[in-house]
Amino acid sequence: MSSDLVIVYHRQPYEEVEVNGKTELRENKSPNGIVPTLKSFFGAVDHGAWVAWKLAEDPANPDFEQVIEVEDDHGKYSVSRLPLSAHQVKEFYHVTSKEAFWPILHGFRERYNYDPVDWPNFREVNWAFAEAAAAEAAEGAMIWVHDYNLWLVPGYLRKMRPDLRIAFFHHTPFPSADMFNILPWRKEIIESLLQCDVVGFHIPRYAANFVSAASSLVDVDVLRRELVSDDLIFEGTALTERRVPTLLNWEDREIGISVAPVGVDVDYITECGNDPENLKRARAIKEEMGDTQLILSVGRTDYTKGGVEQLDSFERLLENNKELIGNVRLMHVSVSANRNMSAYEEIQNDIEAAAGRINGRFGTLDWQPVTLISRAIPFSDLVAYYRAADVAWITPLVDGMNLVAKEYVASRVDGDGVLVLSEFAGAAVEMGSAVIANPFSHRSMDEAILTALNMPEEERRTRMKLLRDAVSRRDIKAWGDQLEAEFSALKAAQRRRT
Ligand code: UDP
Repeated sequence: MSSDLVIVYHRQPYEEVEVNGKTELRENKSPNGIVPTLKSFFGAVDHGAWVAWKLAEDPANPDFEQVIEVEDDHGKYSVSRLPLSAHQVKEFYHVTSKEAFWPILHGFRERYNYDPVDWPNFREVNWAFAEAAAAEAAEGAMIWVHDYNLWLVPGYLRKMRPDLRIAFFHHTPFPSADMFNILPWRKEIIESLLQCDVVGFHIPRYAANFVSAASSLVDVDVLRRELVSDDLIFEGTALTERRVPTLLNWEDREIGISVAPVGVDVDYITECGNDPENLKRARAIKEEMGDTQLILSVGRTDYTKGGVEQLDSFERLLENNKELIGNVRLMHVSVSANRNMSAYEEIQNDIEAAAGRINGRFGTLDWQPVTLISRAIPFSDLVAYYRAADVAWITPLVDGMNLVAKEYVASRVDGDGVLVLSEFAGAAVEMGSAVIANPFSHRSMDEAILTALNMPEEERRTRMKLLRDAVSRRDIKAWGDQLEAEFSALKAAQRRRT
């Protein structure tokens, strides 16, 4: 009971590595992720705590210490490891979160799988997270809960500890009310989220969707709407509301709605991009490519990422533009995770089949149109590919944000390169200077990639400059600063009330 800030995030804030039979804690492999930023919040408080789960054979008698003190670059903080059995993890994470919530959050109602959900288990796991957080929190502490797999935590916490200030951040899209309300647990979820003091989203549209879903289920009043900041307006479509609700009232409590698009660590990526070893690697890739243009596509293997649709578009590109044969290559990085889930295996098979078909149809002894990579590329290597790629082709069918698009732009210190971006990636709101594509339209996809390949240098540079400005303006530090300011405002408001 001693922390002023408790971060509840399902993963631990480090990697556990076995060295000579002993477990060592190391910084996460991807230093560009949000974990370091979240940890940096501990710098502003007397003591911080992090709550995550850890696999235990017998959760009642875990063979590890539940709460440990960790010291790293971000200072000293405690990590509370909630022991969960393999069964609990499977049910709460792989089944309920990934098979029921994930498709609905991303608008894939045909993939939504209700039958296997064990709702009591989901409640139990969320209750356990809430208990672990409550145990760490000092009087009046700030609790920051992350993502949809912990949706019920705020409601439970409010019951356990009415004194706490609770914030929640969604890293995924939030769908329209019609889509969200497919979930039979919709009211329970909304009522839990409305126990927060602040609920945060990447972009205005998700915030507006949340409020409309909440209003369809409970009697919530919108107390304030505010104009969206100019750089978060996506021109040309009706995808972004001009005014979003920023303050709600429900059952005599006020709930702030926050819009804070997560950014990338521009300084770190610039450093990586300018690293002599990395530059050498990027140059070697370029030399190997010769006059051939390199298109790069990077994402996780997930039906939301639109990998199959993209490969189909690449096939049409070669079919309809014979002059490109031998002169363009697609490096398709599709990192397979969740190997034991059938939906992901299916997509992986479809991607492999499409890549094989294209190579079979068009490849020659000395030219292979598609290089498919299914393993994760270390971030520093990825930056070399970003630097070498003429075009980054990032066309998810839907994506909460998409950091790859921002990383590509941040790594182009040379000011060149073209980004083709799906209008359904959250990042499109800030990155309207990319070549915007609609992945549900063959024509739009095909035109976008052709435009990118033929774009004159001057236009490439003009667009890249605008994109680089946008990515630098809202980098990871800006995200942290914005949320820090919102937390301080919350603290001040609470002080005024008491
Ligand atoms: N990434 C990586 N190696 C790879 C592919 C991806 O390090 O081979 C990283 C990438 O740099 C990015 C993250 O994985 O930081 C993916 O984030 P994004 O927001 O694009 O997608 P998500 O997987 O979170 O949906």
